Amino acid sequence: MALLVQKYGGTSVGTIERIEAVAEKIIGYKEQGNDMVVVVSAMSGETNRLTDLARQINPKVRGRELDVLLTTGEQVTIALLAIALEKRGFHARSYTGGQVKILTDNAHNKARILSIDAGNIDKDLKKGRIVVVAGFQGVDEHGNITTLGRGGSDTTGVALAAALKADECQIFTDVDGVYTTDPRVVAEARRLDQITFEEMLEMASLGSKVLQIRAVEFAGKYDVPLRVLSSFEEGQGTLITSESNEEDTVEQAVISGIAFNRDEAQLTINGVPDTPGVAFQILGPISDANIEVDMILQNIGGDGTTDFTFTVHRNDFETALTKLQETSEKLGARVCSGNNKIVKLSIVGVGMRSHAGIASRMFEILAKEGINILMISTSEIKISVVVDEKYLELGVRALHDGFDLAEYDEEAAE
Ligand code: ADP
Ligand code: ASP
Ligand code: MG
Repeated sequence: MALLVQKYGGTSVGTIERIEAVAEKIIGYKEQGNDMVVVVSAMSGETNRLTDLARQINPKVRGRELDVLLTTGEQVTIALLAIALEKRGFHARSYTGGQVKILTDNAHNKARILSIDAGNIDKDLKKGRIVVVAGFQGVDEHGNITTLGRGGSDTTGVALAAALKADECQIFTDVDGVYTTDPRVVAEARRLDQITFEEMLEMASLGSKVLQIRAVEFAGKYDVPLRVLSSFEEGQGTLITSESNEEDTVEQAVISGIAFNRDEAQLTINGVPDTPGVAFQILGPISDANIEVDMILQNIGGDGTTDFTFTVHRNDFETALTKLQETSEKLGARVCSGNNKIVKLSIVGVGMRSHAGIASRMFEILAKEGINILMISTSEIKISVVVDEKYLELGVRALHDGFDLAEYDEEAAE
């Protein structure tokens, strides 16, 4: 007998029929003798719908009251799922994050889980109940409702699995695992049997929204066995592991996957004095405005001046540009400009550590397609480039092809 924590995403609980199908699926696992804790998201589109409602009142809405609103989405699905389980003769108990209690810090809209009181859940499991928990939400030390950031139900699932020492955390979604890249962009993308935490963390950080970044961080930190599976099809999905599988030569490819991020915007300031403290003068006001900077590039100065380029989330573009214009005037910069029609393409793989020439191969593939690279950044296991947004699909497909990541087609090979 095992203890399983399963998380079902928005599409998986998107209609009453699907919620009933999820109930059947859970019962299947329960009847095999497993203890079941289930985390659910809001029905697909619901979190967006609620956000839109609030934005109709205040386009810049954020903070406490937004959290009170958004958490209602998940409260609906926990109750509906528990009703579906009870109808089938199974004892179920639904809980909001606050009821569990999933304690978070007070950073509304992007709170971090601090601790989980697993006592009530344990008691329910001992009584043979199926426990259904609302994803994406918690409560701070003063009892205020918080949310964990978009995609946060994944993190609820992993955190519960860690707290309960579950045998596995299973993330059920609308794809049957983690692919070499988003299968909605590249139809030939291949499902990975396994991927390391390290690679999955890079993929998630670089834009692959199949798992929330914090969920992967949490799973890595607490060694939670984590698997991504389809809600709609049978299959073993993708296991996220701490080690790469030596046996499987395909998994040993230098590049494991390609990620992309549409949420980037680029800002540039040209002809600023090349003196100590300039980077701080430029980025200080950006960070004071609570804007996170992603990539940063500074030219080697020549005539006593230098150029400085950085990227931010597209939502922060206007604010960042206003701040930069102010700095530009103070520093007497030559030009200050911005571009919010850019994207970031990244290749990820632990194999890069032991292989040289991957970056130049990447640049060659993009050059062949006539794609101009605007910025480059690298780490031990990833290379990212910023390109014009019109090249997103072309770039991802070319890289996927160029690094031979496509599904091996036996028939075509014969
Ligand atoms: P859920 O609502 O179940 O949490 P998400 O939409 O958050 O589902 O995540 C699943 C989606 O992630 C898929 O439909 C797919 O388009 C996207 N995705 C992006 N990159 C990948 C990848 N490398 N492998 C699989 N899916 C990916
Ligand atoms: N419902 C939330 C969202 O859409 C949380 C989640 O689905 O993981 O972001
Ligand atoms: Mg998700």
